[in-house]
Amino acid sequence: MINGSCLCGKVKYQISGKLGDIVHCHCQSCRKAHAAAFSSVASVSDSDFQLMSETPLSEFESSPGKHRYFCRNCGTQIYAKRVATEHIILRLGSLDDDPDATEKNHIWVSQKASWYSINGELPEYPEFE
Ligand SMILES: [Zn+2]
Ligand SMILES: [Zn+2]
Repeated sequence: MINGSCLCGKVKYQISGKLGDIVHCHCQSCRKAHAAAFSSVASVSDSDFQLMSETPLSEFESSPGKHRYFCRNCGTQIYAKRVATEHIILRLGSLDDDPDATEKNHIWVSQKASWYSINGELPEYPEFE
């Protein structure tokens, strides 16, 4: 079981099963939504993801059909989800445990913050890959 939570602790979740590969997304929506240089994410099957808290998450549709879910109290983004998919896109910054997943690439580098330099060995793609 992999555990995660928000900043204030009101939202807790557990993941059973395996995460998808780790993607670092530099798109403007992720930068704004996390107020950070980029967002590191991985897909998790709906059936493997369990919210442990009763308080419902806040939701924001950041582009048509894509909803982002946040802690109502502290604002931590927990996951995003596209309609008609059977997986969530977990925001890895909210994890408390090691996800045991593999880093894959950087995407939407065309929208990367000018003040951040990628100094790694992973492939970089201008848009979604
Ligand atoms: Zn919170
Ligand atoms: Zn993004």
